[in-house]
Amino acid sequence: MSGSKVAIVTGAARGIGAATAVRLAREGFAVAVCDLDEAACASTLEDIAAAGGRAIAVGVDVADSSRVEAAVARVAAELGPPVVLVNNAGIIRDNMLFKMTDDDWDSVMSVHLRGAFLMSRAVQAHMTNAGWGRIVNLSSVSALGNRGQANYSAAKAGLQGFTKTLAIELGKFGVTANAIAPGFIATEMTAATAARMGVDFEEFKRAAADQIPVRRVGVPADIAGTVAFLVSDDASFVTGQVIYVAGGPRA
Ligand code: NAP
Repeated sequence: MSGSKVAIVTGAARGIGAATAVRLAREGFAVAVCDLDEAACASTLEDIAAAGGRAIAVGVDVADSSRVEAAVARVAAELGPPVVLVNNAGIIRDNMLFKMTDDDWDSVMSVHLRGAFLMSRAVQAHMTNAGWGRIVNLSSVSALGNRGQANYSAAKAGLQGFTKTLAIELGKFGVTANAIAPGFIATEMTAATAARMGVDFEEFKRAAADQIPVRRVGVPADIAGTVAFLVSDDASFVTGQVIYVAGGPRA
């Protein structure tokens, strides 16, 4: 694979997105590290520079159509045409159905579903022009249903259908689309869930690990490694798939 291919990773200021951005830089991609706050991407950029990679930080709200168009245009101008897109930006607004507000529902749908749609639509022309592209969407084991996550589980299940449709539409242009459905990954997102439940994070992770067949929780590198495979040439015949990366068949 040429060292000059350009990858966009959203929500890459921290967590799974940051680990993925660094891993793709190590694989030889020039990486656009995208997040809501451009300044918050500084530590990811430092890690990429330390690994000898090339990256820029781009502030973008993935749910905002005009900002998405501007961000993708900026990436194309500064790094080159993006041919890898990892739709990773995400939020949680957990609540039982009877307490879930309109805003809890709409904001989760906006970031995960509308965000992945807007980013994919903005990037696809670069991929089809190149005759090569890779889209990886972050789903979740919650797509199978999870108490307190009617909004998030619906968005993550929706992303699976979105992924399969992109695979069908874009396959003839050399573009694959796959989803990764992580189980419990130790990040600020799961730490926030523990805090909201009033449970110590270490205890929360231990309890989660007891329920996971491989007896540990995941780390961002587990997902970054799977992304690295899906964007490689080895995965050119793998498309429209959902890979559960959860230490077991599901969490
Ligand atoms: P995280 O630590 O909360 O990081 C998510 C990043 O996305 C944050 O930097 C956040 O920025 C950014 N973001 C939020 N809204 C955005 C928007 N509108 N536009 C651009 N960026 C935005 O989450 P994570 O645990 O690494 O999760 C990454 C992805 O994996 C998410 O899609 C999540 O749903 C999925 N996932 C995670 C787990 C897990 O156990 N951690 C399991 C399954 C799936 P701010 O800090 O500014 O909000």
